[in-house]
Amino acid sequence: MSPRNGPNGDPGEDVRPYANGRRHATLDMMAITPPALSLLSERLPSLRADLERSRAWLRHEIEERQRYLALPSAASDEGIGHDSAEDLYERDLRLVELASYERDLRDVDAALGRMRCGIYGTCLDCGRPIPLDRLGARPQAGRDIECERAAQLKAAR
Ligand SMILES: [Zn+2]
Repeated sequence: MSPRNGPNGDPGEDVRPYANGRRHATLDMMAITPPALSLLSERLPSLRADLERSRAWLRHEIEERQRYLALPSAASDEGIGHDSAEDLYERDLRLVELASYERDLRDVDAALGRMRCGIYGTCLDCGRPIPLDRLGARPQAGRDIECERAAQLKAAR
């Protein structure tokens, strides 16, 4: 028997200079694109489609309300005092809806704009990635939950 390990020596005792190299390779593999980012780019087409659908829907709803509100009221047509409480309620309701849909449309347009600039999915305030389940539920979100709450509190003050 030769004292040196031949090519058929016990692999368990074979201390290779590549032992570290293998460890590096593993770390390198982990250093590729952060998983959140690559998942986001996979979801981007469907999020964009959602936003575009919302935008078309919102535009339609806004136009409908603008048309309704532009109609001459019963009062101007048939004399003062003819407006029923119901008519007034309907107009108020549509005004509130109109304002809310216009706000939503601005958010949706802004999100589509961020997609075009390549900054979609990153919190506007802290710069951290917005969790995918939040974007799935609200594709127009520009902030993560924590920053959104803080922004709302600030706006309410
Ligand atoms: Zn944030």
